[in-house]
Order: sequence, then structure tokens, then C-alpha cells
Amino acid sequence: MFSLWEKQSFLTSDVLIIGAGITGLSAAATLKEQSPDLQVTVLERGVLPSGASTKNAGFACFGSVSELLSDISTIGEDGMVGLVEKRWDGLQKTCQRLGRSMIDIQVKSGYELIFEEKSSVIENIERVNALLNPFFQQNVFSLSNDKIPQFGFGQTHHLIENPLEGQLDTGKLISSLWKYCAELGVQVYTGCAVENIIEEESKVIAQCKELSFEAKKLAVCTNAFTRKLIKEDLDISPGRGIVMSVIPEKDLKFEGTFHYEEGYYYFRDYYGKLLFGGGRNLAMEDETTTEFGVNQQIKEKLLEDLNTIILPDQKYEVEMEWSGIMAFGTSKQPIVKRISDRVVAGVRLGGMGVAIGSLVGEEVAELILNS
Ligand SMILES: Cc1cc2nc3c(=O)[nH]c(=O)nc-3n(C[C@H](O)[C@H](O)[C@H](O)COP(=O)(O)OP(=O)(O)OC[C@H]3O[C@@H](n4cnc5c(N)ncnc54)[C@H](O)[C@@H]3O)c2cc1C
Repeated sequence: MFSLWEKQSFLTSDVLIIGAGITGLSAAATLKEQSPDLQVTVLERGVLPSGASTKNAGFACFGSVSELLSDISTIGEDGMVGLVEKRWDGLQKTCQRLGRSMIDIQVKSGYELIFEEKSSVIENIERVNALLNPFFQQNVFSLSNDKIPQFGFGQTHHLIENPLEGQLDTGKLISSLWKYCAELGVQVYTGCAVENIIEEESKVIAQCKELSFEAKKLAVCTNAFTRKLIKEDLDISPGRGIVMSVIPEKDLKFEGTFHYEEGYYYFRDYYGKLLFGGGRNLAMEDETTTEFGVNQQIKEKLLEDLNTIILPDQKYEVEMEWSGIMAFGTSKQPIVKRISDRVVAGVRLGGMGVAIGSLVGEEVAELILNS
């Protein structure tokens, strides 16, 4: 039973946003930046954000050559260039909004490991460079094979370097964005799992287990968990990703961000530790799930790669492991759309939502403001 005061001040807003990941919080921030008088409330099911935004490995990247070639095969050259531009602009937007030091962004170069001596990826470096040159005004990718002995990698024939790629602290990013939203006057309620969205003539209601929130407009920013909330058959499949934090016995010989096999595997240095994840492609069916957990088959493959490729001849300790849930579809483009008069969605951020999330949030906010 709620009082009049609670109903007015806590349960009624102009805009409700479901999901406190990078997309939902960025949408909230944009709404308040553009329209400071709007009452904006974010509802998050977890005590902490519980999807992908605080579970990734903190790559500030826009795609390795093999990944971009794969993008070309599905969305064409223009589509790939457009996606890279959005990823880059999204990262710049996040840096501008929060400040580079607040998210601990460091640009130490990104690298792709290639295990075959003769590889079509190497043959296509110049093609990808030519496509991206007009945007970056420089060739982004080059061979840095001379660094392979220095980095100590096993089985690696080629190393492609991208000097623009960086790494960040994903926990600091979301907590800074959360604080930024609070400073703008956004209310964020945690422990509020929305079970149902009901639209009435003059309002939209988000029903949680024990209470309901109402607003004039509502944005669904629940990424992989969207199908439970929106009846429309959106093309969204969940994809679980695992990350391990590894403490090497000796100092790491490399720093930066690293990928292989079209970005399915990725590792980076983190203040002397190694963060290593991926391998979803080994068990696609099992990993198409919204349940958190660690697949032992994938973990074994990651440990094998640690022993043979990344830290050969070195002991290490796996300090922590965790998983996060991403959202994929037949296209790599996020879904930003109006679902009804009062409801919009910004979902399906794929494997590069850290980069693109702030722009998707901005697009969601614009859809709300322009309706
Ligand atoms: C292991 C891993 C590695 C990754 N690597 C990279 C990378 O290298 N580069 C990159 O750019 N991106 C990467 N990503 C992807 C990136 O993290 C995501 O694309 C991005 O965080 C998605 O943000 P989001 O806000 O849209 O979704 P999420 O972060 O999933 O946020 C959705 C929120 O909605 C909440 N929610 C869901 N249902 C409800 C409900 N019914 N009621 C209330 N709240 C609800 C969830 O708890 C969650 O907090 C990676 C992700 C993972 C898991």
C-alpha cells in the first residue's frame, strides 16, 4: 500500500527507462542534458547492473581486421564503415561526457594474432585500410610481426597492430555514468525487475513484483533480456561470454588489447594482470542463454590457449572468472525503434556495446523527445 506522496514522488515520472547498462544510463543522461526538467527514472532488476555492461573485459575497440572482414560479408563495405564510425563516435562521446581519467581509458594499441603463415586476413589489410582511411585520415592497421618475440606469444605467425585501440575500466565507466545521471537528477532504482509493460490511453505502466511505476513514455534498454518484455518478435538472441582474471608468475611481456579468430577470443593487460575471455564460438548452442555461468569446455580451451599461445612456459593463477550476457541478431546493427506510441527500444548491442552504447542511448532519447 503506497501513500499519495510515494506515488507522486517515487512512482510517477515523465520517462521510465528499463535497464541500467550503458544504453539505459546513456539514454537517461541524454534526456536530462537536452531537457533538464523531465523527470527520468531508471529501473534495474539487479542490485548492480546485471547484463553485459559491467561484465565485459573493458576493450575500447572498433573491430579487428578479421572481424571487419566478417562484417563486410554480412552488411557490406558501407555497412562495416558505418558501424566503425558509430563505434568510434560512441567511444568519443563517452570520453567527453565522463572524462578520460574517470573511466581510466588508456590507448596502448590493439593487436590481432594470426596463426596461419598464409592468411586472407593479412592479404586484406590494405583493403580495410582503404575503406577506413577517409574517416580516420590515416591507415589504421599495419603488420607488427617484429613484436611477436618480444611479447613471447606461441604459435603466432603475424601480428596486426591498431594504434587507435584502447582499454578502459568498465566498472568505473558505469559507476561514473551512474553518478553523472544522479547529478543531472535521474532516479535509479535497483532491485526492480519489470515483469510487464502495460499501455493505457494517457500513460504507460511498468509492473514489478511489488509495485508499479508509471510515466508518459518508456524506453526498453534491456539488451539480451528484451524478449520477456516486448511482445513483438524482435530478432534478438542472447550470447554468453566468459572472462577470467589471471595473475602471471612473472611480469607480462606485453601490454595493450589483443584479439584472435574474428574477435571471438580477446585478452588485455590490467595493471600486471591478464584479462582473458571468449570462446563462445566453441559451443554456440549452449551459450545462447540468458543464464550466467561458466562453460567448462570453453574454460578448458581458454586455459589451453593460455599455456600454448599467451603465456607459454609460464605459471599463472586464475584469480576470478565471471560471465556476462550479450545480445546478437542476424545483423550487427543495434535495434533502435519505436514499439508503440509510448514505448521505444534500444537493444541488441552485440559484442561492441561499450563502444556504441552511448550513441544508441542518444538515439533512444531522441526517439522519446521527438514523439
Ligand atoms: C564477456 C563480454 C565481453 C565484451 N567485450 C566487449 C568489447 O570488447 N567491446 C565492446 O564494445 N563491448 C563488449 N561487450 C559488449 C558490451 O558489454 C555490451 O554490448 C553492452 O554492455 C550492452 O549494454 P546495454 O546497456 O545495452 O545492455 P546491458 O549491459 O546488458 O544492460 C541491460 C540491463 O537491463 C537490466 N534488465 C534486464 N531485464 C530487466 C527487467 N525486466 N527489469 C529491469 N532491468 C532489467 C539488466 O540487469 C542489465 O543491467 C562485451 C560483453 C561481454 C559480456
